[in-house]
Amino acid sequence: MRYAKRVFYSPILFERGLILLAREVKYVTEAIGKIMAEWARTGRKNFIVKVPESHHIKEFQVLLKQMLNHYRVPVKAEVKEIPVEIECGCGYKGKAKISNPSSALKILCPNCNTDHAKIISGKKIEIE
Ligand SMILES: [Zn+2]
Repeated sequence: MRYAKRVFYSPILFERGLILLAREVKYVTEAIGKIMAEWARTGRKNFIVKVPESHHIKEFQVLLKQMLNHYRVPVKAEVKEIPVEIECGCGYKGKAKISNPSSALKILCPNCNTDHAKIISGKKIEIE
């Protein structure tokens, strides 16, 4: 597969670890599907992809660019990071704490440090 080979040899991605990349593949694929459908339907060429900060933004961005190139989709997609906001059982409501951006990202309550808070904003990727 030509595409897999290109990703594997990209120095940035190799350094950050393929595991981070693998976590975003599903989301990038979904975003591309939506962009392509919209482009095919309306001919629109400029998109903003709003990605919650609970994702590996850099990997997402690189993958998105590579996949759009791969499929030769003539669109511009700008990635914007959006905050994750939570409502926690401890009474806290506001911006979540994102743990360890270098490996598995966890959404935590900055007040009680648990991860059972309800996400009220920044739950999923949106295309604009
Ligand atoms: Zn809490």
